[in-house]
Amino acid sequence: MPKQDTFGTVVNCIDGRAQIPASEWIRQNCGVDYVDTITTPGADRVLAEGYMERVARIETKVRLSVVRHSSPVVAVAGHYDCLANPCEREERFELIIACAERISSWRLGVRVVGLYVNEWGSVEVLTDSADNETVLRSYL
Ligand SMILES: [Zn+2]
Repeated sequence: MPKQDTFGTVVNCIDGRAQIPASEWIRQNCGVDYVDTITTPGADRVLAEGYMERVARIETKVRLSVVRHSSPVVAVAGHYDCLANPCEREERFELIIACAERISSWRLGVRVVGLYVNEWGSVEVLTDSADNETVLRSYL
């Protein structure tokens, strides 16, 4: 019997520069083969501050991935030079952390991670429910 494929989940911007680093980080750090990717322009701001209807659409897709693909981790990613959500680094960090808190409030029973893809395409971990001491630790 072939090995069962495993999946993680990420809510990310449509920007291609943000998707590959975020997916690779999840694959390497969360022990999954594939990453289901839910995209919307400026996902960090939409999920942190968006209208309930838009947030609910994202939540529905996240739940599909978690339930049907048995994903053990939901990440949210923001990135440098975002066309849809231009803002300073500090504000973006706050948004990403707020997104992670919102995802946690859905009580999916999964690990929740907030990631920032910086100008060099490296991933910084802003918050990780699997590690209480990771809040705002940077891997630069
Ligand atoms: Zn973007």
